[in-house]
Amino acid sequence: MWRNWAGDESCRPRVIERPGSVAEVAAALERAETAGERLRVAGSGHSFTDVACSDERLMTLERMGRVLDVDRASGLVRVEGGITLRALNAELAAHGLALENLGDIDAQTVAGAISTATHGTGARLPNLSAQAEAVELVLADGSTRRFAATDADRDPYLAARVGVGSLGVISAVTLRCVPAFTLHGVDAPAPLAETLERLDQHGAANDHFEFYVFPYARTALTRTNNRVEAPPRPRSPRRAWAEDVLLTNHAFHAFCLAGRAAPPLIPALNRIVTRVAGSSEKTDRSDRVFATRRLVRFTEMEYALPREQTAAALRRVLALIEQRRLAVPFPIEVRLVAPDDALLSPVHGRESGYIAVHMFRGMEWRPYFRAVEQIMDEHDGRPHWGKRHFQTAATLRPRYPAWDRFQAVRGRLDPAGRFGNMYTDRVLGPVGTPIAA
Ligand SMILES: Cc1cc2nc3c(=O)[nH]c(=O)nc-3n(C[C@H](O)[C@H](O)[C@H](O)COP(=O)(O)OP(=O)(O)OC[C@H]3O[C@@H](n4cnc5c(N)ncnc54)[C@H](O)[C@@H]3O)c2cc1C
Repeated sequence: MWRNWAGDESCRPRVIERPGSVAEVAAALERAETAGERLRVAGSGHSFTDVACSDERLMTLERMGRVLDVDRASGLVRVEGGITLRALNAELAAHGLALENLGDIDAQTVAGAISTATHGTGARLPNLSAQAEAVELVLADGSTRRFAATDADRDPYLAARVGVGSLGVISAVTLRCVPAFTLHGVDAPAPLAETLERLDQHGAANDHFEFYVFPYARTALTRTNNRVEAPPRPRSPRRAWAEDVLLTNHAFHAFCLAGRAAPPLIPALNRIVTRVAGSSEKTDRSDRVFATRRLVRFTEMEYALPREQTAAALRRVLALIEQRRLAVPFPIEVRLVAPDDALLSPVHGRESGYIAVHMFRGMEWRPYFRAVEQIMDEHDGRPHWGKRHFQTAATLRPRYPAWDRFQAVRGRLDPAGRFGNMYTDRVLGPVGTPIAA
């Protein structure tokens, strides 16, 4: 039995392959071909959907998690696809390097993170896949291909960067890293109305700006991270534990349990959590500021919207929750991401704002997410590939200008559809079959 991090998606693959080399990946693919079965690669299972599931053959690259090459001068670092961001960050720091941006956590594998266009926040910074200069794929026939930004025919590279696991096994990725840097992070509450009015200014004035807002409260819990020249000043272990584990996780978990037990209390509980959230500050190595520990289990849906529509869409989501008295004990998160050119990147070709909605484990999320999705649809939203949504290939195709180019690459690299699963059947459609708009 394989389960995702949230524990609410599972599958029973007939075979689990754990290759330790490219040759072993190729051998596993030969076995899949002989058996006439599809094969899916799972990363560290941090997607909220069945994107990594398979009841046929599953492969994990947990034995392929090494740094293969570091060129400090160019910042180019070649890693195996199964390395986690946490392990990579530690190795980069030892070489005086860092990733230019990261999301909320660092538990994902590099291959898994880029495959779904995992992102952090920063109006001028694109998602993690845009940091990939080259992607190496083992194709269904066992051959290895390297697709790079410098290729004359760039479409395979642009498809492989955000491939949703559907093109081949990502055996290695070459990442463009930056010199190690220190971040000064400030968490502070601010009036929601003012934060939304000045969203663009906050984005322009800071390297990384985001905020959380609890439904039924009128306060934005802002998080601002900026690069500073100062050396890192790590917090004492006791203070870090009190802030990151006790308050952010254990105390919050207790509030969620109370809300789940007594949903009518949620509006009041949300206002209390917002009041006690307070302000905090830290100055530390970049990855230690970006990544937080998440011990409270939840599920999530996240949409990328045209930047200028983000504030309006968020106001509608908050109003919807209040009008329908929806029991939502989790905050909504708003982040800003720069455009990129990966064919299936949700921010392909447009300045974007991401809105993420969450639901505590064990609480009904479908009616809430469906209602929010309707708003996202009306704002031309594109869903995060690793998070919940109800779209299909037919509803997604018109939202992606490069959809057909991606499908053409998919048809070339995986003509037999070896790397599909139920999720890709739904959201990408069968290989080589035109999809009606
Ligand atoms: C607590 C939490 C916080 C999160 N925070 C953020 C965030 O801040 N920003 C954000 O954008 N997302 C975030 N996510 C979502 C997460 O980053 C993505 O879902 C990511 O894809 C998970 O990576 P993974 O290694 O767990 O891959 P999985 O979820 O296991 O797989 C994801 C996809 O990658 C494919 N894949 C994995 N490895 C390979 C390989 N070697 N070759 C080919 N395909 C492969 C899989 O087939 C699948 O399609 C968060 C998730 C959680 C649970």
